[in-house]
Amino acid sequence: MDTNGTFCRMCGTKLEIRELENEGMIPFCPKCEAFRFPQYNVAVSMITVNEATDEILLIQQYGRPSYVLVAGYVSKGEALEDAVRREVREETGMTVDHMKFNRSQYFEKSDTLMCNFTAFVKDSSELHANYEVDSYKWFSREEAAKNIRPGSLAEHFLVSYLGEPKTGARVFEEPGKWEPAAMSDAPTVKEAYGCIGGSERSC
Ligand SMILES: [Zn+2]
Repeated sequence: MDTNGTFCRMCGTKLEIRELENEGMIPFCPKCEAFRFPQYNVAVSMITVNEATDEILLIQQYGRPSYVLVAGYVSKGEALEDAVRREVREETGMTVDHMKFNRSQYFEKSDTLMCNFTAFVKDSSELHANYEVDSYKWFSREEAAKNIRPGSLAEHFLVSYLGEPKTGARVFEEPGKWEPAAMSDAPTVKEAYGCIGGSERSC
């Protein structure tokens, strides 16, 4: 499948570039007579919080010693909220009681828009790691910040979350800035987040 927008994803015809009003220069299929906007992957990452203790669940994956957030790719046709519930269930066995959207960040290395949520769980007794997870651990807010993989997008999301007031207004105007170029050892999304299936997806 052509993912970089050179050919029409519906019919395979080579795309032209045409101007679309208010949108600029956009790939256009002359056969379908339709604009083909660039596509990219979408994934969710979760700050999984035990509501009773206010502890945060971090996981270890792929033999790496550092901790990351539970995460995975969104399936085509799936709502972000459903992906959050599914991924937390699949990777930890736990049921998300409710959730809150935090922020998003495009991750160029894997062409993925990462959407970060807080996923609150009430029953942590269901917790068990699946085959994708080496181990997991509940951390206090302070210890979670110390143990998350340095320089990762997961760290950016977690630190941003921890810096917000626990109640009251959200501050979207100052989300903080994550600079992938500043990372000397940028993890791949698979390393940083893990993803379901893994095999069929280039993560
Ligand atoms: Zn076409």
